[in-house]
Amino acid sequence: MTARITIFKVAVAAGKGVIYMAVKKMSEQYRLTPTMIKNIVTQKKPGNYRLGKLVNGQSRIKYVGRSDTDVAFRLLTHISEGYSWFKFCYADSAEEAFERECHEYHANGGPEGKLDNVRHPDRPKGSNYKCPRCKIFD
Ligand SMILES: [Zn+2]
Repeated sequence: MTARITIFKVAVAAGKGVIYMAVKKMSEQYRLTPTMIKNIVTQKKPGNYRLGKLVNGQSRIKYVGRSDTDVAFRLLTHISEGYSWFKFCYADSAEEAFERECHEYHANGGPEGKLDNVRHPDRPKGSNYKCPRCKIFD
């Protein structure tokens, strides 16, 4: 997969104006199986992913996640949790993956309980990165 870059308007923060962020395009949707992960997610790199399934006949994003080191390994831990598909993209650093996960979490209704994520994304171990969308780490 090549790293296609898209600029998204990600948020309008009070007093900060509009925040633009260069983010890598998510892959297309793949069936969440060990074979598919092995065949598609071939680089051992940090990255982000979305997991989804059918809810009342509609395909929905139900979980967003990341790995700071190996996104394929992390995806494999979600086998058998009831999700039917995944999308992913690589990140160039743990910081990039963390910021992307925060955006994904906020943009997909995590704070409103629309995702299976039980809490806000954690920071990479030992880092003091802040969420670009809220003040949870301030
Ligand atoms: Zn946040």
